[in-house]
Amino acid sequence: MNWLNTLMYTLYPNRCVLCHDFCQHALALCDACQRHELKHLSQVCTRCGHLSLSHAGSCGYCLSHDNPFDGFFSPYQYQGALREFIRQLKYDGELTHAKLLGLLLAKALKATHGDTLSSLDAIVPTPLHPSRLRERGFNQAALVARFVGSKIKLPVTQDWLHRTKATPMQAGLSRAKRLRNVKNAFSAHSDVGGKQILLLDDVFTTGTTLRECASALKRQGAQTIIACTLAHGVL
Ligand SMILES: [Zn+2]
Ligand SMILES: [Zn+2]
Repeated sequence: MNWLNTLMYTLYPNRCVLCHDFCQHALALCDACQRHELKHLSQVCTRCGHLSLSHAGSCGYCLSHDNPFDGFFSPYQYQGALREFIRQLKYDGELTHAKLLGLLLAKALKATHGDTLSSLDAIVPTPLHPSRLRERGFNQAALVARFVGSKIKLPVTQDWLHRTKATPMQAGLSRAKRLRNVKNAFSAHSDVGGKQILLLDDVFTTGTTLRECASALKRQGAQTIIACTLAHGVL
């Protein structure tokens, strides 16, 4: 390594995972790649997470249907490089991506929900059933949550919500099958009574898993549930 590279590594210890350029910040994705590769999501319902094509804010469905979320946030579309990062983390065990994804989500949360974050008590990642956890070896939502929590200064707790029913993977199932799959699959601890929670998952597809998690937390008296995913898969 020549002296210039040594100096650059000292000043900019991170390299972009996509273009390998030096990064000035802790994120392993340079500013140019963030601009070009990440597709922001707009016009998503801020209550339930479904796309509301005509306007921002709550959608028409929310006006007439109960929804266990008090808010919903997802900054990016599930496509391109972000989709690859999430898939590589989840299916190839590329655990270093958890930091990148967590820091990206923390940055987006701070930019849009800075005021709300200070009133929250904890981050709860969507849990895996113990048998799935043994099989995969890690819970990707919990890994991402750890980096989000350290950046936005919120504790992450995995004791408040458990998956009690082992079910097939949601990916590839229809909406009706997904709903049957996760119905009553979660149970929450009574400690969640009165708590304000950021419920975190990697991808929003139909929202069935997140809604079942939120319902279980609400049944035990949780006061507020803000559902949050890094990416939104319905485009
Ligand atoms: Zn780059
Ligand atoms: Zn809605």
